[in-house]
Order: sequence, then structure tokens, then C-alpha cells
Amino acid sequence: MVLRRGPLVVGQVDFQVCQVCRCGYLRKISVDGAAKGYGIGTRTVLKLYRRYPGLTWYTTTQYDTAGTFWQKIARRTDGAFTENHDGACEHMKINRRG
Ligand SMILES: [Zn+2]
Repeated sequence: MVLRRGPLVVGQVDFQVCQVCRCGYLRKISVDGAAKGYGIGTRTVLKLYRRYPGLTWYTTTQYDTAGTFWQKIARRTDGAFTENHDGACEHMKINRRG
């Protein structure tokens, strides 16, 4: 999914959802240099969180400002995002190897 700010593409988010396990995996989110500092990353994560209600979310912390960023997200989502570097469930692991 590509992130936009007005007409500009300012970043992208790479995520996967498993409807079998009702879980989501946010693999990577990146925002381009000039567009940083506008809360685009935060808004994107919160939008995903709301779009798929009831899912358990996992994420890698491959993010420029991973520390404070995920602290902020945790506060807004009741700690819904858990760090996991191997994918959220068996289905995703299988997909990734294939
Ligand atoms: Zn699954």
C-alpha cells in the first residue's frame, strides 16, 4: 500500500492479514524524508488497526524511529502491536518461504 500526502507519494507500508488466525503483520512502514514529522506513519498504522477490527497485530521494528514511534502507537492502541520478527502465524511463514 502506497502512502500519499495530497498528490504526492510519500512512503509505503507492507503488511499482511491472515483471516484464518485473525491476525495482522506489519512488516515495514517507511515515510520519505521530506514527509517525515507529519504523523503520516502513525496515522497509517492507526488506520490499519481500525480497518481490521479484532485482529491481533504483530510487527517488526524496522522503522527509522522505531522506539518512540511504537511507544506512541502502543499508547493509542492499548499495546495492540507486538514485536515479532518471524511473521504473525504459520500461514505467513509458509507464504514467505514460498
Ligand atoms: Zn494464519
